[in-house]
Amino acid sequence: MKALFLEDVGKLTLRDVDKPAPGEGELLVRVEACGICGTDRHLFLGEFPSKPPVTLGHEFAGIIEAVGAGVTGFRPGMRVTGDPNIACGRCSACHQGRVNLCHNLQAIGIHRNGGFADYVIVPEKQAFELPLSLPPLHGAFCEPLACCLHGVDLARIEACASAIVIGGGVIGLLVVQLARLAGATKVVLITRSEAKRRLAETLGATATIDPTEGDVIANIVSDGGLLPGGADVVFECAGLKETVEQAPRLTRKGGMTVILGVLPSGEKVEIEPFDILFREVSIVTSFLNPFTHRRAADLIASGTVVVEPLISRRIGLDDAVGAISSPPAGGEIRTLVVPDHSKTGSVA
Ligand code: NAP
Ligand code: ZN
Repeated sequence: MKALFLEDVGKLTLRDVDKPAPGEGELLVRVEACGICGTDRHLFLGEFPSKPPVTLGHEFAGIIEAVGAGVTGFRPGMRVTGDPNIACGRCSACHQGRVNLCHNLQAIGIHRNGGFADYVIVPEKQAFELPLSLPPLHGAFCEPLACCLHGVDLARIEACASAIVIGGGVIGLLVVQLARLAGATKVVLITRSEAKRRLAETLGATATIDPTEGDVIANIVSDGGLLPGGADVVFECAGLKETVEQAPRLTRKGGMTVILGVLPSGEKVEIEPFDILFREVSIVTSFLNPFTHRRAADLIASGTVVVEPLISRRIGLDDAVGAISSPPAGGEIRTLVVPDHSKTGSVA
């Protein structure tokens, strides 16, 4: 089979390797699609630690081809999404139920071979069934959606709440949909691209703003602005210093800022404690997908969360090296790697 390996920082190769055999409690999954996420580019650039040589790809789904000894919940032919983040279950964080903060966290596609390959091995406990009727590429969105669900859960949105989402990438566009589902009736998306703003309006954003046009904060929180006084919840989904600084200022008195965006290690931002103290603004961070993968799979399986328009490009494994080693193309939301066997098989 073909598998894309991170050989070392800055070096990706597509190799022919033996198809792996599922060990005890493991599934052999034929990959239907695997999303290229910013983290893959950070791993390539060495901005995020990994364990090369390793096959990247942590946003995957596919069809089970074989199961190892002791597997009881799955059989060949079933479609599954894999939760890539494997917690040890024994450390103090796991014992507190904080599995995303596990001291020994191992991720498929970072520490062990992932989904940019014809096949991937998935431990049974990390697999979640998807219906065979689902369009085959949609399962690749379960992992990013599961991360967004954690962020939206933390926000404890009440019916009729207002929300602001900063950043119209895949994370922001999923958070827009989840905020509506959670009960927000006003959801404002801030993003520069006109195409993403138009798309967000079809996905549930009640208003959109171009941050390059005027003063974003004044346009929203001032009297006569879109949400005078600010929003109940602000989701930072752009991962920039500037937008992290904006987020609490866009949050209303007593409201909550949820930071999902990842800034480069070492980067600092300026927050005014006087402002957040007297307005009692909470700032929380949301990391990964603790116990949210099953719900993400169900939201995608039922079509409740719409993912088709988030697919910008589908490429084969041959083109994945170039796509991961270069910055995202302009306007790109999600590029999916679709191994060749899938392209000629079940993919529409
Ligand atoms: P992305 O595609 O880079 O999305 C970020 C978006 O921000 C861009 O699409 C860009 O769209 C927009 N943007 C740029 N400048 C802006 C500005 N000044 N104001 C408002 N929006 C601006 O990345 P993504 O995949 O959606 O991920 C978003 C962030 O979440 C990243 O930092 C990623 O690392 C992080 N992430 C976190 C988790 C977690 O568990 N916490 C999980 C997955 C990803 P325009 O060109 O339209 O402005
Ligand atoms: Zn990811």
